[in-house]
Amino acid sequence: MFEAVLTVFALPFGPLNNHHPTNMTESPGQQIIDACLRMQSEGINQGSAGNISVRSNDGFLITPSGMAYERMAPEDMVQMSLEGKPTGKWKPSSEWRMHLDIYRSRPEAGAVVHAHSTFCTALACLRRDIPPFHYMVAVAGGRDIRCSDYALFGTQELSDAMLAALEGRRACLLGTHGMICFHDNLERALKLAIEVEALAKQYWHACQAGEPVLLSDEEMAPVIERFGGYGQAHQSE
Ligand code: 13P
Ligand code: ZN
Repeated sequence: MFEAVLTVFALPFGPLNNHHPTNMTESPGQQIIDACLRMQSEGINQGSAGNISVRSNDGFLITPSGMAYERMAPEDMVQMSLEGKPTGKWKPSSEWRMHLDIYRSRPEAGAVVHAHSTFCTALACLRRDIPPFHYMVAVAGGRDIRCSDYALFGTQELSDAMLAALEGRRACLLGTHGMICFHDNLERALKLAIEVEALAKQYWHACQAGEPVLLSDEEMAPVIERFGGYGQAHQSE
């Protein structure tokens, strides 16, 4: 089964080195733009909704607020300090507080992806966690993917609700809003966002046909353990 798990994660991204982008020749700003465009082509985001950031030495680099991804240039990205001070010609994403709080509280986070992907958002509007209906739920770090309480976008209240839902996880749904996730680098964070949306879609469809059978804690425990091993195994690649 471990081989099967590896196969699921092997594509479509390149080498998965911690904090090292696939294309080392691109600037961090261009890598963020590429990831934003990839969100569009994967169908996990629309318009200028959603936002992406990557950790930098003294803070993080984040997408500007309300700018269409196709129009973004690397110099449009906004540098933010870990005290929440922006530098750049544009206003940072309105959700900079969520990104900041992840970088502050989760030292392993190298990149953050926030999206209004359709199936995550549909479940978030129902305030439904994604339970262990499928073993792949463990990709987010635990036995389920929680949905946070609702709070107004761009507020500290929303960030606090998110942090509670992210306890022991690297992804969560945001009540009546969307989803957010992080990983040790941008490729992995984007891949996780795509995976969580796929899980939300599968759970949604299963619910249409009946009541999905949930895996027990005993059944999920070895999956979580193997996924933990999976992540560490890739650090040397
Ligand atoms: P920004 O354009 O300010 O990043 O906002 C998009 C969004 O998703 C708000 O929740
Ligand atoms: Zn949003």
